[in-house]
Amino acid sequence: MQPTGRLHLGNLEGALKNWVALQNDYEMYCCIVDWHSLTSDYEDTSTLQEKIKEVSLDYLSAGLDPNKCAIFVQSQVKEHAELHLLFSMITPVARLARVPSYKEKRKELGLDSYGFLGYPLLQAADILIYKADYVPVGKDQLPHIELAREVARKFNTLYGQVFPEPEALLTKFPVIPGIDGRKMSKSYNNDIAIADTAEETTKKVSVMFTDPQKIHKNDPGRPDLCPVFHLHKIYTENYQEVHTLCSTGKLGCVEDKKNLARNLNQKLKDIREKRKELEKNPEKLWKVLDQGAQKARAKAGQTMQDVRKAMRLIQ
Ligand code: AMP
Repeated sequence: MQPTGRLHLGNLEGALKNWVALQNDYEMYCCIVDWHSLTSDYEDTSTLQEKIKEVSLDYLSAGLDPNKCAIFVQSQVKEHAELHLLFSMITPVARLARVPSYKEKRKELGLDSYGFLGYPLLQAADILIYKADYVPVGKDQLPHIELAREVARKFNTLYGQVFPEPEALLTKFPVIPGIDGRKMSKSYNNDIAIADTAEETTKKVSVMFTDPQKIHKNDPGRPDLCPVFHLHKIYTENYQEVHTLCSTGKLGCVEDKKNLARNLNQKLKDIREKRKELEKNPEKLWKVLDQGAQKARAKAGQTMQDVRKAMRLIQ
């Protein structure tokens, strides 16, 4: 995940919850990708350390255990950059220009740097340097995982078998909508952060986009098109009842949103309390990141020896 600020419900439900579940059964590397964040936020880096702290707080409060997985900052493991450079030699520019997120963000955010074009290739290096079999991500990342698979295949064909072809692992909710109905994203400013207070959450839910055809309280709604209902499916036990009441015009949006906000706040209560506790001891966070970087460097170092040998960069 990029350290661009506090993580939101999209990050939590689309990826982080899977990480927490998988850490018991897999050797796992959880990276905070600071170099990636520079593809967009390169002008003002004054808050970068603060943002790294925010993401690590979100990781730990959601339940990642540094004794079970490596939690670290990308730039502390320089091998990612070396592998990215080598991959850049075997990857056509036209292939990178076809990546959907490149085309979208280039237009939306006006990004046009060399580093921004290479971003999914750096991500391929982030994945393949750990010889990962699986990558637990949200649906928006699937084209990037496909690129990582292609790069692994091409490398193996040219220099001999070094990398497995990684597969994406999705959660039950691979795309979480934001309060305006588009994909929840920090850059769209439509997110509900894990660390928002209960009051902030309630306020954001109260202005959520709903079915535009449901104008009056008793109009029948179309919950399957409504982002509020999408969140009910995650946070409300009896969401089927909500579906029936909404679609038969027995539940108005104001009440419905109040119910959702209450359930959401209830479900996030433990994570938020744990986060408050962890905030009191920032020193512990930096130790966790140091310990994680050591573990990651050991694995990445081994892979790079295999890569250098395969490419005849060393004997
Ligand atoms: P990012 O830092 O935005 O690149 O996202 C980090 C992780 O969160 C990736 O695995 C994304 O697929 C996932 N993610 C981000 N936004 C959403 C969303 N709205 N719904 C589901 N997953 C998301």
